[in-house]
Amino acid sequence: MKVRTRFAPSPTGYLHIGGARTALFSWLYARKHGGDFVLRIEDTDLERSNIESVNAILEGMNWLGLDYDAGPFYQTQRFDRYREVIQQLLDEDKAYYCYCSKEALETMREEQLARKENPRYDGRCRAHAEAKTDAQPVVRFKNPQDGAVLVDDMVRGRVVFQNTQLDDLIIARSDGSPTYNLSVVVDDWDMGITHVIRGDDHLNNTPRQINILKALGVEPPRYAHLPMILGPDGTKLSKRHGAVSVMQFRDEGYLPQALLNYLVRLGWSHGDQEIFSLDELIELFDIKDVNHSASAINPEKLLWLNQHYIKTLEADHVARQLSWHMGQIGVDPSAAPPLRDVVLAQRERAKTLAEMAQNSRYFYEEFAEYDEKAAQKNLQADAVPVLTALQEDFAALDESNWHAEPLHEIIMAVAERFELKLGKVAQPLRVAMTGSTVSPPMDQTLALLGKNRVLARIQRALEKIAKSA
Ligand code: GLU
Repeated sequence: MKVRTRFAPSPTGYLHIGGARTALFSWLYARKHGGDFVLRIEDTDLERSNIESVNAILEGMNWLGLDYDAGPFYQTQRFDRYREVIQQLLDEDKAYYCYCSKEALETMREEQLARKENPRYDGRCRAHAEAKTDAQPVVRFKNPQDGAVLVDDMVRGRVVFQNTQLDDLIIARSDGSPTYNLSVVVDDWDMGITHVIRGDDHLNNTPRQINILKALGVEPPRYAHLPMILGPDGTKLSKRHGAVSVMQFRDEGYLPQALLNYLVRLGWSHGDQEIFSLDELIELFDIKDVNHSASAINPEKLLWLNQHYIKTLEADHVARQLSWHMGQIGVDPSAAPPLRDVVLAQRERAKTLAEMAQNSRYFYEEFAEYDEKAAQKNLQADAVPVLTALQEDFAALDESNWHAEPLHEIIMAVAERFELKLGKVAQPLRVAMTGSTVSPPMDQTLALLGKNRVLARIQRALEKIAKSA
């Protein structure tokens, strides 16, 4: 049997980290078992679904690299098929029309609550529905009235539901549209889904779905319900905990590799290993190792992982992502130096790509102004002879030798000539080059800036000193 998993988001908002984790686990399971991963858009709630959310979900999955083998299928395009199955259940006497009015249902509910019973539909239309010509009936599924449903959950183990606790759920609304449980069942069946991996907020739907599948004579898939993701304070995850949309993590400068690694650890572990490449994950991932209890997000850990991947991934790969961030802050990164070289110079000191982009601006455009404190401390009259000497020696260095090593030698030689510590030479030079006191090692910074920019910026610094003298 070929494994087929699916991710079935409702397009009512962006792709949040809970959804992305569900998608990742389903994707990993399919990839591990040589199976297919299906994307299905559950857009039957016409009021809450919208195309922007569909796009946000597709964009998020694409950015994370969660590629699908089939789909996206849209439930709104499958209404005929749902109607067909609803009709089949009616024809086989496995479903029935229910004409109960809202008021009748409300009274039923109140009476049950008064008797301290769980509110549920009592099945009064099951045997003798009175067809009312002026009312559009709903269709209810005839849930078995006794026995139990065993959900052999791959995460939680065996969970038993008594049929007496489940009522005859509505499978078609009065306008004929299918409800969630019906459309999911038909899709999981038609799409040949073998493993349903989803959030445990759906666990209560599972016995209902199993009952409908059985009524249709279909072998239910295996189910795995993933524990919730909580905020760092242990409460329900919400916007107040910071970024929850996958794309917002991109905007804040996270690498998809870091987010994937982070997501997988929200509920899954392999010993105490923290860092996993995607290939490793595919090899090691097993649904059986998913925790039973909820996991809390941990923003510091994500930051740590991000830094790890910034430092260790192929520089070209990081550069491609950084390029997008440069564009976001209005810098055209094609105006030399190659972004790859900037990544190599900067990667030890940036936790996010957004930060790296900001800190790399001066390689591509003039910085607007000097950091006041840095200039005050380092660009004073005593720096003039040092900067002038550097300017002359740099000017004399041939473009073809404009590399870190000869540049380093020039700085050393100037320091020696003036009998100064290296820092006394490098720091004014750094402020002249970057406007601040933070940059990669000076020789690398100079090499990346290129001869013209270096000479022009020394000149700019000298003029600033002259002006403020
Ligand atoms: N569309 C449902 C949701 O977004 C998921 C349904 C399922 O996985 O069965 O919560």
